[in-house]
Amino acid sequence: MKTLKNIDSLKQTLIDIRKNNQSIGFVPTMGALHQGHLSLINKSKKENDITICSIYVNPTQFNNKQDLIKYPRNIENDIAMLHEIHCDILFVPSNEEMYARNEQLGDYNISEVMNLLEGEKRPGHFTGVITIVHKLFHLIKPHRSYFGEKDYQQIWLIKLFVKKIKSSTKIITCPTIRDDDGLALSSRNARLNLTQRKAATILFQTIDSFKDQILKIKKRHHNNRIDISILKYEQIKMIHQYSFIKLDYFEVIDVENFSFATEIVFNKNYRILIAAFIGEIRLIDNILID
Ligand code: AMP
Repeated sequence: MKTLKNIDSLKQTLIDIRKNNQSIGFVPTMGALHQGHLSLINKSKKENDITICSIYVNPTQFNNKQDLIKYPRNIENDIAMLHEIHCDILFVPSNEEMYARNEQLGDYNISEVMNLLEGEKRPGHFTGVITIVHKLFHLIKPHRSYFGEKDYQQIWLIKLFVKKIKSSTKIITCPTIRDDDGLALSSRNARLNLTQRKAATILFQTIDSFKDQILKIKKRHHNNRIDISILKYEQIKMIHQYSFIKLDYFEVIDVENFSFATEIVFNKNYRILIAAFIGEIRLIDNILID
């Protein structure tokens, strides 16, 4: 695996790749890699000649300074993992490589969805995400780029962004990889202590059981729509009973337009999204109501 730290050396390597007419798959990450990240890289390896992974903890997408400072970093281990699965290129830029001094972020106001849920709770987050994705896409011009469904709102917005700028990069959605007890793998899980780690399973259990309740009602129902407002209220009340979890949001959205749903119409697709703090660690998860 080639490890590149600056844009010039990446550009040079890309010239050779393009000369050889090789397809490029790109997996942007913030490191502290786990099996979720590796699933994206493995998929890219299957579908492209060359796979590039980037590791960059992008400061502009953090609204909380402590979250940025405490974000897990483990580059030695990351490199070993990437070696083992034969990733072709690792790009690990510094802040100086990615941002000019005092750079102002661009106007990436592509949708109201940028201000909902993650966007509301973490102001500026999606502007930071789209800024860095745009910079990396502009540089690498990948044929395909791989993102996890775990960050559902992120991939929803990136797909919209790529469409808006008429980028030729195809966005590939990859399923959420979970631990045996259902907890979605996340770099932030490394910060949980043992008690918190056990408590964290509540996130998945909550959305999974909510999905089951809806599917059961769906089976019994003769109408083609069901009101979920009371069910949702009950569910939120239940989560509030756990003293070790501070709920940030619990929402059901219509995946087509990302609107909040108070009822389920049977031939449409919906997703349940949750964010909660376990201690000071904020975790997110989501599940499709299929
Ligand atoms: P991050 O390093 O957290 O920015 O994540 C980099 C990419 O990995 C994003 O596209 C995430 O959605 C994806 N990802 C993170 N966790 C998981 C997971 N548990 N399963 C699948 N993909 C994931």
